[in-house]
Amino acid sequence: YTMIDINQKDTKELRELSEAFNEMMMDLKTHDENQQAFIMNASHELKTPITVISSYSQMLKRFGKTREDVLDESIHAISDETERMKYLTEQLLSFAKVNREDETFQVEPIRIVKLIKNVTARLETVYDRQIELAFYNGEVLGLVDVDTFDQLLKIFLDNAYKYSSDSISVNIRELENNVEVTIADKGIGIPEEDIGHIFTRFYRVDKARARKTGGSGLGLSIAQELANLNDISIDVTSRVNVGTTFKLTIKKVKKNEETE
Ligand code: ADP
Repeated sequence: YTMIDINQKDTKELRELSEAFNEMMMDLKTHDENQQAFIMNASHELKTPITVISSYSQMLKRFGKTREDVLDESIHAISDETERMKYLTEQLLSFAKVNREDETFQVEPIRIVKLIKNVTARLETVYDRQIELAFYNGEVLGLVDVDTFDQLLKIFLDNAYKYSSDSISVNIRELENNVEVTIADKGIGIPEEDIGHIFTRFYRVDKARARKTGGSGLGLSIAQELANLNDISIDVTSRVNVGTTFKLTIKKVKKNEETE
């Protein structure tokens, strides 16, 4: 009796152990595969501009001294592709940074209206396009890490700029416990079947168009990661050829908490 009991118990434990081990190995394998896919994607993204730069350099070597049109075209192409690579490496660095477990955030009461005014004023000059601020003159204190919030705004504003040619509007709405910040554009929009994927690394709706706009497909995955780590939620609504609105919801400091 007892012998059989012990044996059965042992087998059960062994089976459980082996199942746990298998699960662990599967996790590790998925992790490795994700990492490998990531490296392959990133290398591919970097390889494209390098190839373009390299072929234009060859052209410059052969015709640069005699043909002005070749010179002109090559300089532009090399400069564009270099910018692209710069952007991509910056995005990769941000990505690596948000994925580090020891990355710390300092969440504190921040004047949201002031911060948004600063960021949009800075970007208006870069874009050479107006950003409409549709909110009252008051102020509201949001609980965020300044750098994170700044980075988030920049990602959404950059996208609004890239995927539309009209004005961009930013709206702040104060609720009972939260502050909602929306960034809206009147651009190309996102098809319904793609909307569930846009936060996936390297995902782009229209690869040909995305290449022209110089995206990396990393912006929104960085945004999502940052938002998760900072207790910020992101919502998106979009209609093709009408426009896209991203909404960030952050915690706010309530009036009575301010004075305490
Ligand atoms: P990218 O660097 O390509 O812009 P993102 O991760 O920031 O990468 O965005 C992923 C994809 O989501 C984009 O390639 C684009 O297809 C779509 N997208 C993001 N923001 C917008 C927007 N405001 N309007 C239309 N499409 C957008």
